[in-house]
Amino acid sequence: MKTSDWLLIGIIAFVLIDFAAGRVINFLNENSKNQPLGPEAADIYSEAEYQKSMAYGTANYKLESFASVISTSVILVAIILGFFAKLDSFIRERIGSDLLVTVLFIGILIILSSLGSLPASIYSTFVIETPLLYAIAWIYQELQSVFWLVGWLLVASFTLFMFVFGARIFLPLFNKLKPLPEGELRDAIEIYCKSQGFPLSKLYEMDASKRSTKLNAFFSGMGKVKIIGLYDTLIEKLNTEEIVAVLAHEVGHYKRKHTLTMFLFSNVQTLILFSLMGWLLSNPNLSAALGSDVPSFQLSMLAFFLLFAPVSTVLGLINNSFSRYNEYQADQYSIETYPGAVEYMYSALKKLSVNSLSNLNPHPIYVAVHYSHPPILKRLAKLK
Ligand SMILES: [Zn+2]
Repeated sequence: MKTSDWLLIGIIAFVLIDFAAGRVINFLNENSKNQPLGPEAADIYSEAEYQKSMAYGTANYKLESFASVISTSVILVAIILGFFAKLDSFIRERIGSDLLVTVLFIGILIILSSLGSLPASIYSTFVIETPLLYAIAWIYQELQSVFWLVGWLLVASFTLFMFVFGARIFLPLFNKLKPLPEGELRDAIEIYCKSQGFPLSKLYEMDASKRSTKLNAFFSGMGKVKIIGLYDTLIEKLNTEEIVAVLAHEVGHYKRKHTLTMFLFSNVQTLILFSLMGWLLSNPNLSAALGSDVPSFQLSMLAFFLLFAPVSTVLGLINNSFSRYNEYQADQYSIETYPGAVEYMYSALKKLSVNSLSNLNPHPIYVAVHYSHPPILKRLAKLK
């Protein structure tokens, strides 16, 4: 058998394994959710809220199962029938420039895969990610041998830019930000930030309630320019002490250098990814695996990412476990630096989980794969 046939078998096997593993893990999680819970549950949810969270979890489970059956079938059929190679040659026959072929190919795949998602996310994918992909395709074409290094430098600088300015540039595009008015809340936040030597330059309230019921806060900035934005939903549902305790947790992420280490860690991962791409993308077998006789950048990329799936699963497990560990540390920071924070964090976390209808009893494997934050009962237990 040819190498490209082996690659095709590998791709199909990974898609199937990913599907089967995903279904098993979700099934375990759904069963785990439906086990009887101890008195902790009653401490968080009222009976009505608990029923609502259970129904919400089950509805999500069904929707996810349905969506994954559909998307896996579509991907498998497309791979087996050589749809991607056909789309590639269809565009290639009509367009002369290789770069435009790449952009159109990726654009069409983005539109097809994001049918049904929010306009805002399609917008951000197109406005932010397509030009970046275009630049990477250009670098690949012009600088074959050092493509991986220059490509990585480009992505790393882009990530750094978003890390520093992202919230300041993009949040105001989709939200209304206004300075948090003078008063008890503002005073309490400023006093806390000062006590921690945390230079707060801007403190905003954001009109998140127009689009979501999520309770949240965001942090942005490096060095002396620190911006905190509070969702109006958070201000409405949490009292002053609870909000400061939550912010103390966020300051903890900064002070314990979580933001920085996560940033560096993710750049190391992209470097590994680009080195592998630099090594493999020029191999014509990747495009051939998807049914094309002509080596094509976008087909090779697609085949590469399909084959990369197991590695990205492992990286996801590492990232999540690192992130969950950091959450405990940030809670600890809040407790150590804000008097009374144990109680305030405790009640804030309860309100947050009722609001998001959290699953009180997720399956440990599901947590390992999907949770960037510890399950609520574990987090509360650690606080006490
Ligand atoms: Zn956190």
